[in-house]
Amino acid sequence: MAGRQFERFSREIEAREDELARRAIAAAARSYSPYSGFPVGACLVWLDPQSGGIGISVGCNVENAFYESGHAEQAAIMAGVSAGYRRLVAAYVACTKPEPGSPLPLAIPCGFCRQWMCEFVPEGEDAAIAIVAKDGSIRARFRLIADLLPRPFRLG
Ligand SMILES: [Zn+2]
Repeated sequence: MAGRQFERFSREIEAREDELARRAIAAAARSYSPYSGFPVGACLVWLDPQSGGIGISVGCNVENAFYESGHAEQAAIMAGVSAGYRRLVAAYVACTKPEPGSPLPLAIPCGFCRQWMCEFVPEGEDAAIAIVAKDGSIRARFRLIADLLPRPFRLG
């Protein structure tokens, strides 16, 4: 069933949703994005194999004059994996500067980050993605695989 781990932790995640959204916004505020002016923050929720509960990691985009820039989701994945997490359950992604007049903020994960997140979602499961507006409200919700990356690349 898609989203097993999310369903398992959905009550706890929903109860902490304001905090998770705030942490994504706080990460965006730490973004280093002088070239694009597009600060993005990600707060990822993982299954914590040590506690059996959930673990959190955050990241922001970090740009470079060479244009090899790191994305917020990628940074948060690196932080989460470095903490020992391997199973992504949910992601809160915020941009503190959405395009004026856009029906959605533009911090919907790019294709690169969708594939990066998918790496940590086992086949047959899914993860919940929430797009956080500047004011901390949830602007949109997606499922990573069902909605954003229906046919991910997988080896084998
Ligand atoms: Zn990206």
